[in-house]
Amino acid sequence: MDQIYEEGLLDSSRRVIAEKSTVEIPVKEPLPGFIIIQQERPEFYKKTPSLAEVMKGSLDADLLENLPRGWFILGDVIIVKIQPQLEPIKHQIGEALLSIYPRCSCVLRDFGIEGRQRLPVREIIAGTKSETIHRENGILFKLDAKAIMFSQGNLRERMRMSLLGRGETVVDMFAGIGYFAIPMAVHSQPRRILAIEINPIAHGYLKENVRLNHVESIVEPVLGDCTQKAPKSIADRVVMGYVGTTNRYLEKGLQALRPGGVLHYHQTIPSWQFPDAAIKEVSDASETLGLKAEILCCTKVKKYSPGMVHAVIDARIGNGY
Ligand code: SAM
Repeated sequence: MDQIYEEGLLDSSRRVIAEKSTVEIPVKEPLPGFIIIQQERPEFYKKTPSLAEVMKGSLDADLLENLPRGWFILGDVIIVKIQPQLEPIKHQIGEALLSIYPRCSCVLRDFGIEGRQRLPVREIIAGTKSETIHRENGILFKLDAKAIMFSQGNLRERMRMSLLGRGETVVDMFAGIGYFAIPMAVHSQPRRILAIEINPIAHGYLKENVRLNHVESIVEPVLGDCTQKAPKSIADRVVMGYVGTTNRYLEKGLQALRPGGVLHYHQTIPSWQFPDAAIKEVSDASETLGLKAEILCCTKVKKYSPGMVHAVIDARIGNGY
């Protein structure tokens, strides 16, 4: 996906179509290494005017030059980054975006994600209601986009997780609003998912999303710190969907697994150290507990920041002796 973006080959006039186990990404020309098909039912976006086209009458050339060229639509909320020098016209930009997307109800200016609970820093620049329902891969995600993160770049990883866990006991240690737990429950019907979340607001939406997607019999939302709430030796699969300091929770993640269970360990590492740096964290922590980690798969989820990647290590954890 990153390669398609980086090489500017994404055909932004058509929608990305995510169905069951396939993702159709519209491209301008074939790309080596990708399966290229002629789309049967391409979904074209109604040609949306650019912000510059909408605002050209009301702004000087240099301001027009710095207008945002891209944004993310989450449900009916538009999320956009705006350069500091455009502060005086932020509300104008917000109104212009709502005029381009009349079905949207709110525009949020994005300043990034912060803190242990990965909270977005955002301000409303147009509209009022930042609570929304985002549809993706047959899943309904309800959230307040001003208060809760939703990573666009994790789409493929959410889809990958949705294909795993059939008949298993799963522990999701950083569940959020159910980014992984709900797609897994809906598409793979595990026996049980313990979804642990420390942020009461995210936990509230997790409970709502369990109801909205009718997976009450599978997903058990747990409010609290995974270091206290993580069970011992019951899980066939443990998902550690966190970044930066995930290694601090590795011991609890490993102890939640039954022998032979699978760990999905997320971490942000320097891109030149992919995947070894993350593999080493899993292997060292396993060894310390007298366990053995068999590395099954290493995935680069997305570019995280300059020189850093968001990686996932899948490992089967067995007894070391
Ligand atoms: N994996 C998600 C995704 O793919 O988009 C991202 C989850 S978000 C980065 C991490 C979540 O873990 C946040 O909702 C945060 O509140 C929660 N969290 C952070 N520390 C926690 C802890 N010690 N126990 C449980 N949840 C925690």
